[in-house]
Amino acid sequence: MERPDLERTLDRLLGPAGPEVGCDVCFDQLDRYVELELANEDADAALPGLRAHLHGCPACREEHESLLALVGGDQAP
Ligand SMILES: [Zn+2]
Repeated sequence: MERPDLERTLDRLLGPAGPEVGCDVCFDQLDRYVELELANEDADAALPGLRAHLHGCPACREEHESLLALVGGDQAP
């Protein structure tokens, strides 16, 4: 999976202060998080802190939403 460098850099700059999960960790675990969500598993319990990070980080939230749309079947060619 490819992610634009600019987005990563931006994300680092915009990352929220607070939760122990950073953007790097978030990006690493996002695939799994979405898988769990779509499987109706407790993604929040399996990957603690991720949801809080998504809540506070617009860049990661956007990534999460596009991943959800992609994996959830609403994919564009
Ligand atoms: Zn982030």
